[in-house]
Formats: sequence, C-alpha cells, structure tokens
Amino acid sequence: MSLQSLTRCLKQTFGYDSFRPLQREIMEATLQGRDALAVLPTGAGKSLCYQLPALVRDGLTIVVSPLIALMKDQVDQLQASGVNATFLNSTLEATEARNRLDRLGRGEFQMLYVAPERLMLPDFLSRLKGWKVCALAVDEAHCISEWGHDFRPEYRRLREVRQWTGNIPILALTATATERVREDIVKQLELENSVKFLASFNRPNLKYQVIPKAGAAAQVCNFASGRPEDSGIVYCQSRKTTEALAATLRANGFSAVAYHAGLDPADREKNQDAFLRDEAKIVCATVAFGMGINKPNVRYVIHADMPKNIEGYYQETGRAGRDGLPADCLLLFSRSDFMKYVRFLDDIPDEHARKVAHQQLDQMTHFAENDACRRVGLLGYFGETWTHENCSGCDHCLEPREKWDATVDVQKLLSCVLRIRQAGNFNVGLNHVSEVLTGSMSEKIRRWKHEELKIHGIGKDQPRPYWVDLGRQLLRYGLLVAGEDQFQTVTVSQQGIDLLKNRATVMLSRSIMAPRSQSLARTGDIPCDSGLFERLRALRKELADARNVPPYVVFSDVTLRHFSRDYPRDDQALLNIPGVGEKKREDYGTAFLTAIREWVKQSVPKEFEPLDSANVQPSPRKPKAANGLSDTAHETLALWKLGKTIAEIMAIRGFKDTTIEGHLAEAIAHGEFIEPRAIYSVAEEREMQAALAGYDEVSLKPVYEQLEGRISYGKLKIYRAAAKLTPAT
Ligand code: ADP
Ligand code: MG
Repeated sequence: MSLQSLTRCLKQTFGYDSFRPLQREIMEATLQGRDALAVLPTGAGKSLCYQLPALVRDGLTIVVSPLIALMKDQVDQLQASGVNATFLNSTLEATEARNRLDRLGRGEFQMLYVAPERLMLPDFLSRLKGWKVCALAVDEAHCISEWGHDFRPEYRRLREVRQWTGNIPILALTATATERVREDIVKQLELENSVKFLASFNRPNLKYQVIPKAGAAAQVCNFASGRPEDSGIVYCQSRKTTEALAATLRANGFSAVAYHAGLDPADREKNQDAFLRDEAKIVCATVAFGMGINKPNVRYVIHADMPKNIEGYYQETGRAGRDGLPADCLLLFSRSDFMKYVRFLDDIPDEHARKVAHQQLDQMTHFAENDACRRVGLLGYFGETWTHENCSGCDHCLEPREKWDATVDVQKLLSCVLRIRQAGNFNVGLNHVSEVLTGSMSEKIRRWKHEELKIHGIGKDQPRPYWVDLGRQLLRYGLLVAGEDQFQTVTVSQQGIDLLKNRATVMLSRSIMAPRSQSLARTGDIPCDSGLFERLRALRKELADARNVPPYVVFSDVTLRHFSRDYPRDDQALLNIPGVGEKKREDYGTAFLTAIREWVKQSVPKEFEPLDSANVQPSPRKPKAANGLSDTAHETLALWKLGKTIAEIMAIRGFKDTTIEGHLAEAIAHGEFIEPRAIYSVAEEREMQAALAGYDEVSLKPVYEQLEGRISYGKLKIYRAAAKLTPAT
C-alpha cells in the first residue's frame, strides 16, 4: 500500500487533506502486519488509524469497543462517508442480527464493531474462521487494566482471538497515559514485539482556567450566556447537584439536561441523546457521563466541583474540543470542596488506598492553587515536560497574575509559626496561626496564652483568610512544611529559616482567590460568517433528524465553519473543504450549496451588486445583530478590528471589495470608527467631498460616473457614511 494511495483514500472517503501526528506512522505499521500500541490523547484521531487501513485491506477488520451506545454512532458516521461498516450488539432485533451475520459470512463488510463480551462467546469465535478476518483493533484498550478507569474483564481474553483468525495484526488504542496501564495492555494482549506510539498529551486547542467558586449556579449561567449556541458539559460531584443545576439553567432559558447513574436508563439515554443531537446545549453530569461520548463539538467543560484527581480532570476536560477547534475548560475551585472530600476519605477502609486518595486530592488542589502555567502542571503529571515559556492557553499565561512584594507579611507569618513552636513546643495549623496574627482572643488562644506572644495581632491589617491563603502559598514554595499528622500542622523549613535570616525579598503572585475577569481571548478559531454558520447549523440539524443521527454525523463544526468562510460555489470547491468526501458531497452537497448561495444573495446589499444587474431580487431578510448591524457586516468589522486589510478580508470571506467596503460603511453608519486613511488618500477625500457636495440621492451612480470611475463605489460609500452625508432612506 503506497503512501500516496493512503492519502488519496483519506481525501476521497473522509475529505481530509493530511494526517494528524502519528496517524500515518500507525497506519503504516499495522498495514505492514505489525502489532501496534497507540497512546494518543482524546481528539487525536485514533479511530482513523484503524478505519482507513480497513478500507484498503482485503477482508474484515474487527473493532472491539466497550460501549454499545458508541457503536451505532461510529457506524453511522462511517456509513455517512460511504464505508461498509456494521455492528452487532444486544440492541438489534434477532432478525436484523441474523441478517448481518449472513452478510458477514458473504464478506460484504469491511468493518465490524463488537463488544468484547459478545466477541468472546464460543459460538461467536467459531464464526470468525469463515469471515476472512484480517485485523483486530482494540479501542479504549485501557479497559484491559485494573489500573485503568473502566476495567472490563473480557478484554483480558482478547489475545485468544488469534487462535481463530490466524496471526492477524492487533492495534490497541487508548488515551490513558499512565505507565502502569500501558504495561498492562502490552502484557495482556501479548504486544511485547509491537511498535509503540506515544504522543504528547498536550491538547493545544484547550484553554484551562481556574476561578474561585462563588455561587456555582450563577457562575455557570454567566459563562453559558456568553456562548448560548455552544455545547457544554458541566461536571458535578453529586447526582442531586446535576439535577438542581440543570433546573436552574433551564429556568434561565438554557436547554439543559441532567445525567447520572441514578437516572432511569430510559431517561438517561434520552438526555444523552438530546445532548448528542444538539437539542440540549448543556448536560450537567456526574463523572458517569463521558467515556465514549464521541461528540466532537463540545465547546466547553466546566467543573462546578473540584475533581478528585488530576487524571480525572484531564480525561473530563479532554472531552472538549475533539474537533480541534478552540474550547474552554473552567474549574470552579473552592477550598471547602477539598475539605469536604478529605472528610469522606475516612470512609475508605484500606489505609493505603486512603493515603493514595489523599495524595491525589493534594495534587489536584495544588494544581488549582498554583500560579504556574496549567499545561506545565497537567503534562508534568503524566511525566511530560512542557518546555515553552508561554502556553498561550491558560489563565496564567494569558493574563499573568500580578506580582507583589510580600516580604513583610511572609516574615510575620514565618516568625509567628516559629514563636508558637518556641512557646509551647508543639505545632499548630494555619488556622490557628491566622488567629494569632489577627489578634483573636479565642478560647484556644487564651488557654495556650498565645495572646501574650509579641506577634499576637501584628497581622490585624489583613483578614484571617488572607493569612491562611498566604500560608498555603508558602507551603507550595517550600518555606513551610506540612506535618504528616491528622491536624495539618505546619513548621518552618530550613529554607524558610534562611530566608528570615537573610531578610530576602519575596515576590508572590496574587492568589487565585483574588477574582479576575472570566473571559480570556480565544485563539485558533476559524473566523467565519457567523450568520451563515447558524443557518448551516440549522440545515445540518434538519438533515440529521431526517436520518435519525446526531448532527455531527452529517458534517462537523469545522466543516461548517469552512463553508461559512469560503462560501463554496460548486462541487469542486466543496470537495476542497476539510471533511467533505465523495459520499457526503453526493448526499448533502446540493443542500449546502443551495443554502450558501441563498445566503450570499440575501446578505449582499442590493446597491453593491454589479451595476447592470437591475433584475436582482430585493433581499427579503437581512439578518441584524443586536446593535442593528447586520451579521455579515459585523463579521467584516471584527476582521477589520483584528487589523486585516480589505484584500485580506476579501480572501477570508470570499466577497468582492465593494461588498467588504459596503460592510465598513454600514459599520460607520452604526457609529463605529474606521480610520479613513486606511481607505482613501487626502486627495481622494477632497475629490469626493467636492463631487458629493449638495448631492442627496441614494444611488451613487451619477457621482461615480462624474468621477469617471477613478474612485470605487466602496470608497464613495465609506466616505459618505463617515461624513454623515448618508441621505435618509
Ligand atoms: P480519538 O478517538 O483519538 O479521541 P477521534 O477518532 O474520535 O479521536 O477523532 C476526533 C476528531 O478528529 C473526529 O471528528 C475526526 O473526524 C477528526 N479527525 C481525525 N483525523 C483527522 C485528520 N487527519 N484531519 C482532520 N480531522 C481528523
Ligand atoms: Mg476514540
């Protein structure tokens, strides 16, 4: 199989121009008949690694997948691209299942999705002999390991498959990065001689942000109202919270559903379906929601409660932005969540397990409170080093926290800890330290005579939480050390003592508890005509509903954004858009081309049509943005404000210069400032001024002709708007 034909097949069937990192290498290895293990993060495109080879191979590729709900989805997507794939599971009626088995026997399919429990049934295994099986793909391979998060015992027997199929290559895929799970997969599937692919776990399109939790429901509503068209997942710890939050969101006009393991299975499925089909924009869920949720256009994941470990946080946030477009991950952090979980730890009977859980909580809290780049923290957890100075995709890198000189307060706090220790020869926790500093006269203070200490009350100028917070920062910097005891006491480290002696300056970042703005700039988006995008989204929904599949089976958001940016006019232009293969062009091309054509017709202002086209229909409906500016002009204005030239905007939006200039004129008429020197020269301005003096017609044609076409319609229009010469129309 040559590389060229693999690339051709990628374009023809899936509509993609190029491979994502490691995809090609993985496909080559498996096509050479080698076993392979691929550890790639969510959204990296693992499915394609077995789907594309299955198309070029002779015979049947079996895909083992743990989730029945996911199979139909994947097969729907493949069929929409014209691939002969099928699945077998308990949701099928007996006759349908028999029919599929017959067709498998006749070699009619290239791919079969099946759960391990069914595959390993003796009856099923014995059929394999007659099916010309040429490869086995084990998706979500971490299910093989007890150390993973979704252990499925039947996965451990998968190596037996080769007793029935001969020596076919196995490709195991997972997004779980921990070493232990990886080793387990290799051992259980006997992949010792396999080629191993390990990708970076960085998700460049995800933006990580942590803010102090203060009224989670209002914060979630607030966040969601900034992106009402986007799909999002809100993770909550308890089932009750998911339902309460979903109800609050609904009361505020959002389409939200709840999802947790305690729901009636029918309701659970209904809610999940509504989310997948873009009918409910938001799902408020416990961690039960997630694995196998293949929805590519989840635009944000909010953690309304702190996750219990970093691995979980990574997996859950990882469900955002599978399509590679920018997505947001927002964690609402509160110290009291941490305290609450610590209390629950007592319920864990096994001491070792309890310690591990506690450690994981500490790591998670540290991640949230830390003032360093979030990517460094996250990737560091998986043993990966992030070497770039600024990740441009987390709150700290996008908006570095202000540094301040904390020397005096640090000295006060460290001395306080030392003095308490000297006075009583025992250690106390940060709460007590803060009480002493703020001059409290509590019962404990008086019992231990801490009000007699010289440092009692020297920190009165700040409230107690300030001192507790500062103490935590000093713990992170190693100036204080936490005791191993259950009272969470602290002592001053050698480093802290040195610091006091040297009177060294200490610069600290403002704590994450200091609130700041919620919205940070997004990078990497595909700018497009948002009005058209919404129109095409609606069309996609209609087509998807008619076929009873989720919208992304028709086209992804990435594809719709390209449509709304490039305005394809014909089949060839359509095929140039990522995500449009032969089959989808055939099925949906006309519908989308028509919608795009109609849209362009409607949104180009009539007076900018070519002069001879007197027969153009007046636009029946010009979409307006909130400020009265049409969406399309808004789009142009946004690009203009980003510093794009008219020529660049023309290229991005696929419009003529007069159209773009018309948008700018419209923006000026709505009070926007456009720098005139970026459009026309002083000489041109004088000429226009003279020509337009006393002129009050709507049509600029006579003026244009009077100037003998030296100055374009667009410039005239912009000048007229800027000089407020626009006649009332
Ligand atoms: P994973 O299983 O690794 O989480 P998926 O296989 O679900 O990822 O793929 C995520 C998304 O990326 C899908 O929408 C898929 O169509 C898209 N994708 C995969 N490979 C490519 C590629 N080479 N070019 C563009 N998009 C791709
Ligand atoms: Mg996958």
